[in-house]
Amino acid sequence: MECNEFRHWLRTRDIRNNPSPGALAHRLGCIHCQRLYVLDTKAEQGVCQAFASQEMPRKLVGRIDRCLDSL
Ligand SMILES: [Zn+2]
Repeated sequence: MECNEFRHWLRTRDIRNNPSPGALAHRLGCIHCQRLYVLDTKAEQGVCQAFASQEMPRKLVGRIDRCLDSL
């Protein structure tokens, strides 16, 4: 897997599913993608928590998600 492919996977993954073996292997060997992965995971978890507690309007959540996806 290459960086582009990894980023695509990151954008389209579902954090409730286990990572693909290819993505995991790439992340372990690529510091940039590892960093992206950590940031994305924290952000996704934050979005999930916001949904769960309903503190954030749905529109705002969508905007944040789109911003993260364009990184
Ligand atoms: Zn990479």
